[in-house]
Amino acid sequence: MNMMDIVYYTLIFIGTFLIMEFMAWFTHKYVMHGFLWSLHKDHHFKDHKHWWERNDLFFTFYAAVSMFFFMTDYVPYGIAIGAGIAAYGATYFLVHDVFIHRRLNWFNRANNWYAKAVRKAHRKHHTYLRKDGGECFGMLLPPLRFFKSK
Ligand SMILES: [Zn+2]
Ligand SMILES: [Zn+2]
Repeated sequence: MNMMDIVYYTLIFIGTFLIMEFMAWFTHKYVMHGFLWSLHKDHHFKDHKHWWERNDLFFTFYAAVSMFFFMTDYVPYGIAIGAGIAAYGATYFLVHDVFIHRRLNWFNRANNWYAKAVRKAHRKHHTYLRKDGGECFGMLLPPLRFFKSK
């Protein structure tokens, strides 16, 4: 691998990670609160006692997309794309499922300005129990108003 390749792989990895925040927002707003609401619904309004939610299928879907990029070579720099999706998935899981929803008992005490804003914005999203009329569909880039302490 030459120097330019390393630069390309790195940029594509970072670019994929950033695009994934957009994809997560878009999927959440238009798919999960759209025609696949039936699968996302149990994340807003839990109607069962299982640890697993139907909503986790979306995570599984992106994991499969990531594996596709790792395991095939149809797409140039596919490894960097697959790694970017996987890194975003791991971050999303740690922030959303572990830190906000406490599905595992890790870093419960994170309370810096960024952690607070992310948590407040997503709590806002969860004040809506229905398919329509929600807000804060993204995850890692909370709207600026959530950074103001009150
Ligand atoms: Zn939602
Ligand atoms: Zn949530």
